[in-house]
Amino acid sequence: MADLNWKRRFLNGTPGDQQIGGRPRQVPGCCWSRVTPSTVPEPNLRLWSKEMADELNIEQDCSDVLAGNRLVEGMDPYAQRYGGHQFGNWANQLGDGRAITLGEVETETNVFELQLKGSGITPYSRFADGKAVLRSSIREFLCSEAMHHLRVPTTRALSLVTTGEDVVRDVMYDGNPAPEPGAVVCRVARSFLRFGSYQIHAMNGDRETLQTLVDHTIKHHFSGHVSTTDDGLVTWLNQIGEDTALMIANWMRVGFVHGVMNTDNMSIHGVTIDYGPYGWIEDYDPNWTPNTTDANGRRYRFGQQAEIGAWNFARLLESISPLMEQPERLYECLEGYYNAYERYDQEMWVQKLGLDEFKQGDTVLIQNLLANLQLVETDMTIFFRLLASIKAPEIEAFYDAFYDTTTIPTTEWNQWLKAWWERINGQPRTARMLDANPKYVLRNWMAQLAIDAAEKNDYSIAQELYMLLKNPYQEQSEYEDKWFRKRPEWARHRVGCSMLSCSS
Ligand code: AMP
Ligand code: MG
Repeated sequence: MADLNWKRRFLNGTPGDQQIGGRPRQVPGCCWSRVTPSTVPEPNLRLWSKEMADELNIEQDCSDVLAGNRLVEGMDPYAQRYGGHQFGNWANQLGDGRAITLGEVETETNVFELQLKGSGITPYSRFADGKAVLRSSIREFLCSEAMHHLRVPTTRALSLVTTGEDVVRDVMYDGNPAPEPGAVVCRVARSFLRFGSYQIHAMNGDRETLQTLVDHTIKHHFSGHVSTTDDGLVTWLNQIGEDTALMIANWMRVGFVHGVMNTDNMSIHGVTIDYGPYGWIEDYDPNWTPNTTDANGRRYRFGQQAEIGAWNFARLLESISPLMEQPERLYECLEGYYNAYERYDQEMWVQKLGLDEFKQGDTVLIQNLLANLQLVETDMTIFFRLLASIKAPEIEAFYDAFYDTTTIPTTEWNQWLKAWWERINGQPRTARMLDANPKYVLRNWMAQLAIDAAEKNDYSIAQELYMLLKNPYQEQSEYEDKWFRKRPEWARHRVGCSMLSCSS
């Protein structure tokens, strides 16, 4: 990796910590701290994204580097400082507590930040160990790559290396800590700047650092915009609003629930970031949240993600307001987000339902569809996939989507199917639908099967899912019986399938 074109744009462009490494502490006025990844006893490369590696021009012989054991010429590792609202409450300094950026790599077309997740303590680790366990690392690797192939904007994964070291976690926070195998994922993005990266300076009244960070961001990541005028800031923020709305509309299209949409987990590039207790909708339930910490308030439930996107975006807008002469103009940006979301949501339905274009009456058609999906347990992915291939508007074609075939609400469904069939003149745009309604997603129990095997040193399921999910819209009939399936009964209440904690 020494032959890569390493850059120090962020380190050179923003103020950092004088001290290198050190124990968890407050680092006022800074955007980063230099740190050294912890070394691990036995690095072992387990999963590898060849496409990402090709894009970066990396050979597959660097597991010691990707485990944090060896630095190469040009790397200058650091942890980013940011803040955030967690579950609606301002938490002040958070930062990269278990992530360490190795550096920025310039390729022919792009600059990418390479970051190790689980590489040990940084000044931002607060009371935790900076490590990551195998189970959450597998979830991050598989899901970020799957999302990319589903065409949902996301950070990428390059590698997963096991460390040969145990990490102790209390999975259900019930006083039963246990050792688990540790791992390090190398993830990749244009940058890992978050809404919280700006909030921390605004909330601490540090206008100067805020301005420097915004100047840096716009110069390197939003070229063409300017940071010195209200107009420039508004166009920049509008872009973030658009990108965020597009990302969330895509989550809704494929049934992804992020689970921890805190403002520190919102990328300014509108890419899905920080795969923690996320989950996939299996039986359609807009109130579902995969995150046990969110079980009471259900703040981050599936059906509320667009609204939370707006709430988070409003926090970003507030934090930019000290830089504006007319901060009231930021309301335009928030309105822009809502308009963008509405537009992307309509586009999504046009694709999912195979319409020609969005018409006024379609709102009712969609409402009725979503109501029907909630009458009895109905699998979202299977339902939409089957909808793309039916020959006649009859519910019999959808039996596979129902968890209990004795309780199918036949009347309601036949009514809806008839209305839809009339709307599309009996001619569904099948290709469009098949391209918007994936056949395969990373169902919660699928990831869990990969984890159970990996914990026994068998990576074949993880590998199979990685390959399967490279082509999520294709039939791949050899995998149909195995993976185009409703949640099995064993997964209904299994930890890691129906509920997940942040203990990663
Ligand atoms: P999350 O919401 O999971 O993205 O994390 C919230 C904050 O907790 C971030 O600042 C993380 O870096 C930090 N954090 C989470 N897990 C750990 C860990 N094992 N060690 C250190 N910091 C952590
Ligand atoms: Mg985070």
